[in-house]
Amino acid sequence: MMKVSNYISNYLVQIVSCVCIALFSLQASAADAEQKITFSKTELAAGLYMLKGEGGFTGGNIALSIGDDGVYMVDDAMESMLGLLQSTIKTLTKENIDFLINTHVHFDHAGNNVSFAKAGAKIIAHEHMREHLVSKGMPTMDGPKPVTKEALPVITFHKNMTLHMNGQDARLIHLPHAHTNGDAAVHFKQANVIHMGDTFFNGMFPYIDLDSGGSIGGYIAAQRVVLNMCDDDTKIIPGHGPLATKMDLEKSLAMLLRSRSLIKTMIKAGKSEEEVVKANPLAEYDKDWSWNFISTEKMTRQTFKALSKNSGNKHNHHGHHNNGHKDHGHHGHSH
Ligand SMILES: [Zn+2]
Ligand SMILES: [Zn+2]
Repeated sequence: MMKVSNYISNYLVQIVSCVCIALFSLQASAADAEQKITFSKTELAAGLYMLKGEGGFTGGNIALSIGDDGVYMVDDAMESMLGLLQSTIKTLTKENIDFLINTHVHFDHAGNNVSFAKAGAKIIAHEHMREHLVSKGMPTMDGPKPVTKEALPVITFHKNMTLHMNGQDARLIHLPHAHTNGDAAVHFKQANVIHMGDTFFNGMFPYIDLDSGGSIGGYIAAQRVVLNMCDDDTKIIPGHGPLATKMDLEKSLAMLLRSRSLIKTMIKAGKSEEEVVKANPLAEYDKDWSWNFISTEKMTRQTFKALSKNSGNKHNHHGHHNNGHKDHGHHGHSH
């Protein structure tokens, strides 16, 4: 009896200390996170800022234009970052956001649409992005989440549109079937700044969302389009990673072209996905481009899948963007 109760009390002590340690470490990491995560503010041209998460993941990089005509922003981070984002914006302007541009449908770029819309922002995005939100909801780490009306863009465009505010002609450019099927880049002409959304991950393997209409061919085409708009002084805001130059984008494009070619050769030789992964054709990029979300293996698999999808002809809605990208609606994306 003595033994048993000793055992029980020891056991209880163990449980209690386990819980305490767990609680303590939770508190510690929450406190750490609160202390560490911030948005850095870089003024790229008069009144045009890049906001970038530091010390933790806040979502995609943000552009913010403040001037006599009003305030507009490109992307709005993850939902959990709302307070931090609002307080960061408040250090730069007391005005509300007039227009909010979404580069694409992902939760880490459009996570705070509802809050900004309720505060008066008119949301602008590519028409496919809006269609995606309406028909499938917003893609998140836990799968698609239905959205309320406030999260939806109220202004959409087909190919291009331009905002004329604060001394900038900000041209929104649709980049078909790149990271998703509804990507927009924003070219701030006078400032010589381009926000590329997730059609550019600077210094990291990109994520290509094949299930949302992205493709490797479209991704490469998108980087070519933007590269043609750049000169040596252009500042490029990537979806993720530090502020970039034309040279950084060239490096990314070269890596993508070579990765595609290496894997295409193996597919033509009849290799399966597992055989390609085992052979590790992208080993040369592992040191510089692999990161926790898109490892070399994941990059290999997504490139393999993207190329098989293209040649398989089963869901071939990527093939035709090269021959004109006519108005084909979204018939290919309902699967
Ligand atoms: Zn992203
Ligand atoms: Zn994305």
